Amino acid sequence: PVYSAAPDRYHGGMKYRRAGKSGILLPEISLGLWHNFGDVDTLSGSKEKIHHAFDKGITYIDLANNYGPSYGSAEETFGQIMKKSMAPYRDELFISTKAGHDMWEGPYGIWNSRKHLMASIDQSLKRMNLEYVDIFYSHRYDPETPLEETLQALVDIVRQGKALYVGISKYPKEAAEIAYRYLADNHVPCLLYQGRYNLFNREPEEEGILDQASKHGSGFVAFSPLAQGLLTGRYLDGIPDDSRIARGGHLKKEALTEDVLRKIRDLNEIAARRGQTLAEMSLAWLLKDEKVASVIIGASSVKQIDDNLKSLDNTSFCDEEICLINNVLSR
Ligand code: NDP
Repeated sequence: PVYSAAPDRYHGGMKYRRAGKSGILLPEISLGLWHNFGDVDTLSGSKEKIHHAFDKGITYIDLANNYGPSYGSAEETFGQIMKKSMAPYRDELFISTKAGHDMWEGPYGIWNSRKHLMASIDQSLKRMNLEYVDIFYSHRYDPETPLEETLQALVDIVRQGKALYVGISKYPKEAAEIAYRYLADNHVPCLLYQGRYNLFNREPEEEGILDQASKHGSGFVAFSPLAQGLLTGRYLDGIPDDSRIARGGHLKKEALTEDVLRKIRDLNEIAARRGQTLAEMSLAWLLKDEKVASVIIGASSVKQIDDNLKSLDNTSFCDEEICLINNVLSR
C-alpha cells in the first residue's frame, strides 16, 4: 500500500528547537542512518522505521556518503524510499549528508579536498534521488588539507544550490573557531556542529564545544547519544544476537568492560527511580540542556524509536539526580 503520513504527526508530542540563531527548527529527537539502513538490512525494515519516525514528527534524517554497510547503501536505501513514498513530503524533511571519511579508493575518495567534497555531494544526491540536501557537513577535520580549501568548497556547494546550509562535525575547537568565522564572513553561516555527546562522553561540555557553537549562533546536535546502545538496557544481561556488538558494527565487545557494565547497571537504577528506562534517561539528560538542538539516535527497530521518544515526557532533572549520575560516572 502507498504510504500516507500520520495526519497528527505534528501534534503527537514532538517538540522542535531552534538550531542556533537560524530559521531552522529541529525535532528534539532525530534519526540517523549510520547503521541498520544498509544493503545488509531489509528495505522493508528501513522503510518501516523511516515512515514511523516521520509519523512521530521526526523531520531530520541524518546521513553520510559512507553509511551502510556497504558504503553508499544507506543513501541508496533512503533514495528508494524517497522516490517511492516520501517524495510528497520532501519539504517537510530536513535531510543531511556528509563527506570526509573513507568513501572510494584512491587519493580523492577520502578527506577534505575540494575535489573529494564536490564529487561526493554529487554522488550522494544521485543515490538519494534528491536535488539538494538541507545540510551538508564536513564530516571531520583534516589536518593535511588547508582549512580554507574545505570551507570554500562548503560555501560553493551552497552557492551551487546543492545544499541549503552547511555544518561541521567532530572539529577540534581551534579549527571550529576558524570555520565559524570563515563561513560567517562568506555569508554561509555554519548551521550546526555535530559532535559525540552522551553520559559516557562529555567532551562537548568539558571542552567548551557547546558554548563555542552557541557563541557563534550555531546549533549543536549530539550523535551516538546512547553510546551506540551501551546506555540502554541492551547489554544488561549479556550480548543479544541481534545487537550492534554481535552483528559486527562499530561497537566492539571490548567496550563492554566490567567498569562500564557496573555504571550501566547503576545508571539503570537511577533511571528506574525516575520512572524511565536507561535509554529514556540518557536522552533526557542531553535534552535538559537547551544548547542541544537535537539528539540523533540510531534504531534497529520501530520499538526502539518509540521507546526513545518517551524520553520527551520528562527532560528535567533535580540537583540530587544530577549528583547521583555524576557520582556513578566519576567512580
Ligand atoms: P545511538 O547512540 O543512539 O545508538 C543506536 C543503537 O542503540 C541502536 O542501533 C540500537 O542498537 C541501540 N538502541 C537505540 N535505542 C534503543 C532502545 N530504546 N533500547 C535498546 N537499544 C537501543 O546512536 P548511533 O551510534 O547509532 O548514532 C546515531 C546517528 O548519529 C548515526 O546514525 C549518524 O547519523 C550519527 N553519527 C554521526 C557521526 C559523525 O561522525 N558525525 C558518528 C556516529 C554517528 P542495536 O543495533 O544493538 O539494537
